[in-house]
Amino acid sequence: MAHPDRLLLGPGPSNPYPEVVEAFQRPVLGHLDPDFLAVLDEIADRLRAVFRTANPLTLPVSGTGSAGMEACFVNLVEPGDTVVVGVNGVFGERMCEVARRCGATVVRVEAPWGRAIDPQRLLDARAAAPHARLVAVVHAETSTGVENEIAPLAELQGTDTLLLVDTVTSLGGIPVEVDAWGVDAAYSATQKCLGVPPGLAPVTFSPRAAERVRSRGAAVQSWYLDLSLIADYVGAARRYHHTAPISMLYALHAGLGVLLDEGLEASWARHRDAGARLQEALPGYGFRAFATERRLPQLTSVWLPDGVDDAKLRDELRTRFDIEVGGGLGELAGKGWRIGLMGHGARERSVTTLLGALDALLGR
Ligand SMILES: *Cc1c(COP(=O)(O)O)cnc(C)c1O
Repeated sequence: MAHPDRLLLGPGPSNPYPEVVEAFQRPVLGHLDPDFLAVLDEIADRLRAVFRTANPLTLPVSGTGSAGMEACFVNLVEPGDTVVVGVNGVFGERMCEVARRCGATVVRVEAPWGRAIDPQRLLDARAAAPHARLVAVVHAETSTGVENEIAPLAELQGTDTLLLVDTVTSLGGIPVEVDAWGVDAAYSATQKCLGVPPGLAPVTFSPRAAERVRSRGAAVQSWYLDLSLIADYVGAARRYHHTAPISMLYALHAGLGVLLDEGLEASWARHRDAGARLQEALPGYGFRAFATERRLPQLTSVWLPDGVDDAKLRDELRTRFDIEVGGGLGELAGKGWRIGLMGHGARERSVTTLLGALDALLGR
């Protein structure tokens, strides 16, 4: 069985850093081995640096980004709570569904796909429902390629409403400032701008979010994602909860090391430059931008040129050039692409490789 090697320019997973691939060769240790626990401690320190937070409750949840989303909601929401959710794409919708399954009453603040959510509208929705326990919003909407502004939501710090932010596609790719923006809970995923394969969901909880978990009336409905139980393993008690995915954690440790050695600012600049190059070049091939404001450099959404067959062109890219790009979702399904330049893939080399293939397939 052949194992093809592809340039992954879709909405995730992205190609891992070489140092990350190497980390998978390390021998597997037991999850309570002191040598492994030292690595786990360093992961928490590195995650705090990357999230730009001092939050003690910062750890990798076992599972993909959606497990991080679910962990945040299931720990912070109790049945009957009101939750305000910003919705301008697939992942805002997913947040509503997860909150609904936690028994929350969901207040939706919508913006059209391809547009950003005005943070003032989220603050207004909270003011109209001052008992709301949570305002939740996606920072980087991977379904549309739009950034939602978070900083103005720091105002929620003066209220009893917590701020929950999805940083799955933003962390490592564009500035994320958990403490400076007053973010109470954030989750991410390894396979987007962190340059690690899918399998872990970094999360961070502010002291007041941790207090919210402690003061719950009822136990967290999910035993596996109960952060107080997980924190007893990751923290000083070292009490077994579930077997840590050792090899994935080595990979995350290595990926965060690469990112911090490069420097967050340098990584943001690399993503910004690669995205700008791609977004400048695509109109020359007949692609038109889908997102109309606050475009993300790490995820470019475009309408296909007229007369182009989506499935056929992506098939040719994959089979002739070993390049994967993402299909569209929603309105963009069958009519557009989502092109990711994330983590290790966010460099000029990826852009010129893709454009070279498009030269061959489409002509300029
Ligand atoms: C990819 C993604 C998720 C879900 O992550 P999975 O790893 O697929 O579970 C959640 N939110 C955003 C913004 C994403 O891009």
